[in-house]
Amino acid sequence: MPQVVLVGAGHTHIQVLRHWMMHPDPAVEATLVVDTPIAVYSGMAPGLVAGQYERHELEIDAVPLARRAGVRVVLAPCTGVEATNRRVLVEGREPLPFDIASFDVGSTVAGLDLPGVREHAVPTRPINRLAAAISGRVEALTSQRPNVVVVGSGAGGIELAFCIDSRLRGLDLEPRVTIVEAGDRILPGYHPALTRRIEAAARERGLRTLVDTTVAGVEEHGVRLEDGRTLDSDLTFWVTGAAALPIFRGSDLPLCDRGFARTRPTLQVEGHDHIFAVGDCATLIDQPNRPRAGVYAVRMGPYLIENLERLKTGQRLRWYRPQGDFLALLNLGDGRAAGAKWGAAFEGRWVMRLKDRIDRRFMERFQALDPEGAALPGFGAMRAGPEAHGANGEPQSAPMFCGGCAAKVGPDRLARALARAGLDARPEAEGDQVLLDQVILDTGTPDDAVAYRTPAGDRIVASLDAFPAFTDDPWLVGRIAAVNACSDLHATGVTPRFAQALVTLPQEADGETAEELLIQVLAGARAALDPEGVLLLGGHTNTGPELVVGFHVEGVPEDGRELLLKSRVRPGDALVLTKPLGSGVLLAADRMGLCPGRWLRTCLASMQTSNRGAMEAARRAGVAAATDVSGFGLAGHLGEVVQASSVNIDVYLSALPVLPGALELLDRGERSTSHDQNTRLPVPVETPNARSARLDLTFDPQTAGGLVLAVDAKRADILLRDLKAQGLDGAGVIARARGARLGNPRLTLS
Ligand SMILES: Cc1cc2nc3c(=O)[nH]c(=O)nc-3n(C[C@H](O)[C@H](O)[C@H](O)COP(=O)(O)OP(=O)(O)OC[C@H]3O[C@@H](n4cnc5c(N)ncnc54)[C@H](O)[C@@H]3O)c2cc1C
Repeated sequence: MPQVVLVGAGHTHIQVLRHWMMHPDPAVEATLVVDTPIAVYSGMAPGLVAGQYERHELEIDAVPLARRAGVRVVLAPCTGVEATNRRVLVEGREPLPFDIASFDVGSTVAGLDLPGVREHAVPTRPINRLAAAISGRVEALTSQRPNVVVVGSGAGGIELAFCIDSRLRGLDLEPRVTIVEAGDRILPGYHPALTRRIEAAARERGLRTLVDTTVAGVEEHGVRLEDGRTLDSDLTFWVTGAAALPIFRGSDLPLCDRGFARTRPTLQVEGHDHIFAVGDCATLIDQPNRPRAGVYAVRMGPYLIENLERLKTGQRLRWYRPQGDFLALLNLGDGRAAGAKWGAAFEGRWVMRLKDRIDRRFMERFQALDPEGAALPGFGAMRAGPEAHGANGEPQSAPMFCGGCAAKVGPDRLARALARAGLDARPEAEGDQVLLDQVILDTGTPDDAVAYRTPAGDRIVASLDAFPAFTDDPWLVGRIAAVNACSDLHATGVTPRFAQALVTLPQEADGETAEELLIQVLAGARAALDPEGVLLLGGHTNTGPELVVGFHVEGVPEDGRELLLKSRVRPGDALVLTKPLGSGVLLAADRMGLCPGRWLRTCLASMQTSNRGAMEAARRAGVAAATDVSGFGLAGHLGEVVQASSVNIDVYLSALPVLPGALELLDRGERSTSHDQNTRLPVPVETPNARSARLDLTFDPQTAGGLVLAVDAKRADILLRDLKAQGLDGAGVIARARGARLGNPRLTLS
């Protein structure tokens, strides 16, 4: 199967994603590498500046779109490409091999290195930086008559000048907007009729235009010109045209003198038939002066879709010819727009209505979820797994099961099975008594680790943890599986030192694919283990129905240091949770294409955070008892603590730290597949009468979740300060332990 890697979710690639969503191609394995899940539609960006649109209206979330297209997502910046070796380089990760790659990464603004520009001017490319910055910059204005300078008078600069003027007037301010242009007229490259119309509109609105004027630098309250003058400016926009991003620098791709990839009319990079470059990041060799505008990137979409297919099937590729004259529509911010086509310019409210309609229609095709994460019309949830065939050969959709720690066998079933197998208590008298005497922790104790003494008297603590992939990114699965496995040792207060990997590769992966999969899994694992000084000594690989990754980890407790155990909680202890909850429901929603990229990103970042820092803070605070929170959910793991320590635990639902989006999804009824089994606890539980998302959160299975640390209540503040100093900002006291009536400890969730 050819591996296709798409880099960037620009205006062209989102069309490829939509096409694959509508027409899945099972003969392709595709990956999208994107630095941020949100792509911003440039056509509506000036309207955002004017206050006509909310941010979400011009944002396209690449993650749910990619999920529906069956495209794997890597949320990390691409840092370069090795064209000859066919590898895409990704920050902090193993490079991704490809058979075909396509780049749609946009551009940055020219002239950012002039003095003061980065510090004081509002950046306009990438557009998502403009979208993020604009409201804060407007709110920071203090003057009743703010001076605004827009440097650059291309279409973007002109729209921004008119739109910021409208926004500020809407706030009852009296802005003085100046447009500065180095060329001899505004809107260079556009039809003179449009320039004249815009000049007239600027005069009417009181916007000043300075042509033949070059900027030398930007200051906090001014713009320095090359002729020595300084323009007062409280808000400076830098819209000086596109410059190449550094992504191709140092690569073996042919670049134009401005650093953009040189492409043929087929959109293939010169001399590299298996690499495409589209949108702003490409220069068409036979049209080097084509301006960089979103309309071209949009028009390239159908050509790239077709040429990807044709390249794969060995057909002749189609030529893209940029249109000489396109409908230019400029938002004037006051409900009117100006436009030009075929040499005629026009202006009015109807032009803005037309522009708004075109833009909204474009967005409707790509926005899969509403701002709260619910699927929009035309983008249902993906509730079933891949199509399979039933006993009679009829197509059936496999149910979608969650991976990660949500794939654990339920606590009640596990307990029953262990009991029936005779593993629920230490065997008496049977076996070698010397050996049995060496055992410290085994299946008879609720801790997720085993511990024993060597004949020399040293203690060894070890754990084995494995799970089926929770996502289709093998590097991430390897990394999080390693974090998760180490967490079992961290929960006992021990630093893991050695590891072995257990990897099951999917049977359907052929030799080369299987090899690459294993490389990615192990590289991900090393990204978690190496920084902690854990040596991956060896392991075992086999094949099976799906990717399963796990690790055996072991370590040696420091001399004389007691292990942290679930049985050591004392009445009066405060229970601190170190990471927010909700990964189970977020990953379940992601599998169904219902998790916005921004929620997923925070969830994945939390899962990749090692519990080592929390464990070290726990030791400093004199913590004696801990558990990690994983597949049984917070309530399940606290249930084990209640049982092992014979204390009552009162959980304060309102104090639980939560990952963004988890409560919204639980409220909407989304659940991980093991949620229900987690509600069956090993101890009596008291819950409020009314169900709530926060109550449900306690049953949500966590993959690579945080630690619960039981600390003397008087030292809780010290522990929290220490945890926060390590970046665990969500950490907080979530529960208290109380003395229990003999033989009747309980868990209260209220
Ligand atoms: C204020 C303003 C208004 C504009 N208005 C218009 C307009 O009305 N009409 C018009 O035609 N043009 C307009 N433009 C121009 C337009 O913004 C660009 O031409 C257009 O966005 C380019 O599209 P693209 O597909 O090349 O890249 P983009 O749309 O910029 O997309 C780039 C993608 O690549 C991702 N990316 C970037 N770097 C990396 C990396 N290292 N690794 C992984 N992913 C990466 C980004 O996150 C993004 O997903 C405007 C420009 C400005 C500044």
